[in-house]
Amino acid sequence: MEIERVEAFQVQWSPDDTPTQRSAFVRIWTDDGHHGIGEASPMMGGLASLGVIINDIAPTLIGADPLDHAVIQDRLMHGNLVKLGPDGALTGALAAIDIALWDLKGKLFNLPIYKLLGGAWRTDLPFYASIGGNGAERSLDAVLRHVERRLEDKPSAIKIRFDNPRVNLDTDISNHLAKARAVRKLVGDDFPLAFDSNNGYSTGGAMKVGRVLEELGYWWFEEPVQHFHIRATGEIAQRLSITVSAGEQTYTTGGLVELIDAGVRMIQPDIIKMGGITGLLRCAALAQAHGVELVSHQTQPMIGHLANLHVCAAQLHLTKPCEWNDPSDRMHAIFDEPPLPKDGKFHLSDRLGLGIDFIEGELAKRRIDV
Ligand code: CA
Repeated sequence: MEIERVEAFQVQWSPDDTPTQRSAFVRIWTDDGHHGIGEASPMMGGLASLGVIINDIAPTLIGADPLDHAVIQDRLMHGNLVKLGPDGALTGALAAIDIALWDLKGKLFNLPIYKLLGGAWRTDLPFYASIGGNGAERSLDAVLRHVERRLEDKPSAIKIRFDNPRVNLDTDISNHLAKARAVRKLVGDDFPLAFDSNNGYSTGGAMKVGRVLEELGYWWFEEPVQHFHIRATGEIAQRLSITVSAGEQTYTTGGLVELIDAGVRMIQPDIIKMGGITGLLRCAALAQAHGVELVSHQTQPMIGHLANLHVCAAQLHLTKPCEWNDPSDRMHAIFDEPPLPKDGKFHLSDRLGLGIDFIEGELAKRRIDV
């Protein structure tokens, strides 16, 4: 059995979306008719990753044994392709390939991926509702209405995100804090809350916000400063008592070690941005060895989400619920069993591989080859 064909394409979710708003998927076929599906980070529509897959990776995969997925990943990462990055576009491409090969492996062995990972500590996974867009573009009242709506899904926690353009720091701190206070008041003292600045502050600004979040009993404070300011992130993590997290824009295990060395004690690598399932397993080992929390980042609702859930199911210390980003049913049409929470949890089934597949006819209507 060998890899015969690699497809890499975007999916257009509505007729008026732009190329940068689309998803980036792959499908890998073997010569005996099996297939697996994967996803790359959709930043800028995943176009850069899809280009790397089509031009640089796919030709080298033809004829390879799909069960050699970890060797394949390291060969690609440490060969000439490392000269392209390794950050971002390349690791997103490798993630998509890896997830597809794990999905394929599940189908070959007639097992769900979590079984291949050594078994699940849990297949019923609590989640937190991740709510974006709470900056100047949304009124305080509208923020509260969004939180109320998301509470209907019975999340174990809520994270409010302040998505800012990162070209102006500390511009709206009093507004952010007013919203953090109002959300705390809305949900009561005991409900777990997290705050994500999306790299919006200077060190001084982050300290000011972090101290208020501590008073308000927030659970964690995510990406307080620019992600490449590793020493500053570590300094803030060490000076504040609230847990400070980072790592969703870190693309190598070496990069995570730098964050940990700087003082960060909760890391958030993303399965579709770095290494896929093989990559996230390595991050889990790293976190465990350092006594650091691994709370994986994940914003995509279908393939990326399920890949992440399989690893979370097999993760020893799952200290926080799994991320579930702003929900939308726009992707439901092309998947045979979209993952949806029930009673405040996602439930992994014993379906093979990821447990999801394309509906071919619906995919064909929306697929855009690049
Ligand atoms: Ca974040």
